[in-house]
Amino acid sequence: MHRPGTNPDNVQQSDVLCDFCRREWTDDLPVIEGHQGSIICGHCLALAYRLIVLNKSGNAPEGAKCTMCLEHRAELAWQSPAYPEAVICKRCTNQAAATLSKDKDYNWQKPQ
Ligand SMILES: [Zn+2]
Ligand SMILES: [Zn+2]
Repeated sequence: MHRPGTNPDNVQQSDVLCDFCRREWTDDLPVIEGHQGSIICGHCLALAYRLIVLNKSGNAPEGAKCTMCLEHRAELAWQSPAYPEAVICKRCTNQAAATLSKDKDYNWQKPQ
């Protein structure tokens, strides 16, 4: 997401916030972009991955709309504890984790 009040014609890196924790995007903070400017950072992605993939569990209401792909999917999903409107589905979690773990600019690895 963009910080409220961001000039869409002049978006700065610091205007880009994780939808799930509202951390600012910095050079040390890996982020992945979803649809319509949605963003998840490496910290939140690790939490989602642990719950959904490693624990095979979810905490989002069934059929909740995924913030990243904008679909209502009948599968496990992680809901941000801080911003409950932010939800990521299992598919997006797996895709984002695969992408981020291959990105050589960041040292992000899938939680074990
Ligand atoms: Zn985050
Ligand atoms: Zn999704």
